[in-house]
Amino acid sequence: MPSIKILPVHVRNRIAAGEVIERPASVVKELVENSIDALSTEINIDVLYGGKRLIRVSDNGIGMDREDSLLCFERYATSKLNDESDLLNIKTMGFRGEALSSIASVSRVRLFTALRGHPLGVSIEIHGGDVKEVRDSSSSGTIIEVRDLFFNTPVRKKFLKSHGTELFHVIDVITKEALSHWGISFGLTSDNKETIILPFASGPKERIMQVYGDEFLNGLMELDVETEGMRMDSFISKSNNFRNSRSHQYIFINNRPVRDQSVSHAVYKAYEGILPRDQHPVFFLYLYIDPQRVDFNVHPTKREVRFENKDSIYRFVNSHIRDAIKNERAEYAKQFSEMSSDHSSLHTVHSYELPESLPLTPSESLLSENLEFVYRPFLPFIYLGDTFVAISGKGGLTIIDHHAAHERILFERFLKGINLDSSRLLFPKQVRLPHKEYITVLENTHILRDFGMEIDDFGHDTVIVRSLPDALKEADIDGILLDVASCIRDGAIPDKTLKKDVAARIACHSSIRGKELLTQEEIAGLISDLEETDQPDQCPHGRPTRIFFSLDDLKKMFKRK
Ligand code: ADP
Ligand code: MG
Repeated sequence: MPSIKILPVHVRNRIAAGEVIERPASVVKELVENSIDALSTEINIDVLYGGKRLIRVSDNGIGMDREDSLLCFERYATSKLNDESDLLNIKTMGFRGEALSSIASVSRVRLFTALRGHPLGVSIEIHGGDVKEVRDSSSSGTIIEVRDLFFNTPVRKKFLKSHGTELFHVIDVITKEALSHWGISFGLTSDNKETIILPFASGPKERIMQVYGDEFLNGLMELDVETEGMRMDSFISKSNNFRNSRSHQYIFINNRPVRDQSVSHAVYKAYEGILPRDQHPVFFLYLYIDPQRVDFNVHPTKREVRFENKDSIYRFVNSHIRDAIKNERAEYAKQFSEMSSDHSSLHTVHSYELPESLPLTPSESLLSENLEFVYRPFLPFIYLGDTFVAISGKGGLTIIDHHAAHERILFERFLKGINLDSSRLLFPKQVRLPHKEYITVLENTHILRDFGMEIDDFGHDTVIVRSLPDALKEADIDGILLDVASCIRDGAIPDKTLKKDVAARIACHSSIRGKELLTQEEIAGLISDLEETDQPDQCPHGRPTRIFFSLDDLKKMFKRK
């Protein structure tokens, strides 16, 4: 008896569906990418229950004729490849011809489409891969409705998460597609509520602004470089704008959102030396590479790529970003040297005369950026670089990381709600957030209220900040809200640890930044405030805030005992 058989088509499709369609967001991705390939300028998505009940993608693209609209549900049915050689020169989002067959095999699908310029269209209904109905219909563009995803594969259905979580993934997918296709307008409604509205944008910069707002963009620098066969237009963190999470890092290759460890690493490596531990840069890299030199056919969801020459891409990304950061910092240095000539008197202050004028001018605080070692002879402490302060006293030498120390102090204040001195803002501040973060912030205003931040909904992905604790007056509120939202989302469910996490994030944002140098009085205040905390020796992330060397320690080190 023969034991090997060829699987029937519907079984094959379901197997393929297992690779391509993991959750509602994967359906959205495939359908949106089909609409992009169909040259649409407007794509609207509607979901119910995070897409578990319904996903509808409508476009104004070229549509299909009757014959194609039946063919498109067959496996390996594609209009995007003619022969094998095309696989080496991919310019479309799709090409594997398996998305629609996969989707149709695990859901109930209805398609409405008409070929552009033809008034009469067709509607087709397919349940679990079986065609139920084919009818004439009057339509333009293409609408695909996908209902009851995984209705016939209960095990997979069980793995779907809550509506909210599935919706987040849907929003994530749409955000990525929208960031890489700025010339298309995108709309999303979720349970009939308008959730994303992104009109046509003239370029990536405008699209990033539509999604994240002006202020976010101000923290980034643009870098547009081209060499033979490669171009990179990127928007990357300025050297004082880092985040506590890896959210907001995007790589697009030929306008396709992808993940790539090596390219990410090239970016991180470029920030080496200025990126604080546990901090992350924001980046939007738009890479354009000759399609013959990159293989997109590596993974069924096309999220990964293989480069013909990985090393040269790495070097290209790394060296240009590194140079851009260097230039940005050199610009500071130039400003400093221009201004410092006016301040030459500063260095002649008598040793024991405590200068009143110590609030530092910007040029002075930049000093530490450029000189490894800043010695201020008139003060009883020394700055080592721009974060460490060495203080003698108490029978030894204490080295304080003033950033970590301040973080510890603020963290405990936030957590205990003491000395927050929150006050209403004269001019409430509007902050526009990406939709996911917007929802998360609104759902958690009570947590933020405990930290002295009063926040209301302002509609259209914008919140309004009405009061803030004094410690946050100068801080980057957009950054805080983005970070807090990702922290809540990644988050610990138990409220207690969540509150701690959020307090740590906020403290980190509001504490003294690397570039700021403190005055004598500020250092004294910092030391006594630190002394009063519950755990003066560690910052909320567990890093040391201070290290003490007693005279005995020093003697030992110098082998004097
Ligand atoms: P692929 O995108 O890899 O070609 P799909 O299964 O996603 O495979 O789609 C099959 C074919 O159906 C596409 O090649 C395209 O010709 C057609 N098609 C799918 N969606 C649309 C759409 N929104 N508008 C016009 N044609 C479409
Ligand atoms: Mg496709």
